[in-house]
Amino acid sequence: MSDPIRPPVALPKYPGTDQTLCQICGCTPAQFTTFRQHTGLIVLMVFRRRSGMFCRDCGLETYRSMTAATLIQGWWGIFSFFITPVILLVNLANRRDVATLPAPQQVPGGRRPVEPGPPLFSRPAAIVGVLIPVAIVSLFVATLFH
Ligand SMILES: [Zn+2]
Repeated sequence: MSDPIRPPVALPKYPGTDQTLCQICGCTPAQFTTFRQHTGLIVLMVFRRRSGMFCRDCGLETYRSMTAATLIQGWWGIFSFFITPVILLVNLANRRDVATLPAPQQVPGGRRPVEPGPPLFSRPAAIVGVLIPVAIVSLFVATLFH
């Protein structure tokens, strides 16, 4: 699923080609997509959004870091508890925009592709993060039926 809001400006292309360039590392090919991060602060909440052209590796790194942060920080609020799974699903859907791209290639005069970080569930924040809603629901149920 792509974000319905498309950029109003022309996508960055390498001069003389149809190549699209990653806004982070400048490699090609790149695809426009959006990743989101949610932070629950009991009564307040913070939404972060990163839209733009991502090559496969920068896109996956952005997906992983924002999703891992949401998994650990997202659940902490009544509304946030229900918003967080939506954010996670939207990120997972948009991950396909970049995951299906071929490996990023350096364009002449451009920078080299960046090293993507570890997969999502090799990150401690993500592992702890998936256990938080389980723990909250278990506590709630335990309190209810005590
Ligand atoms: Zn890149």
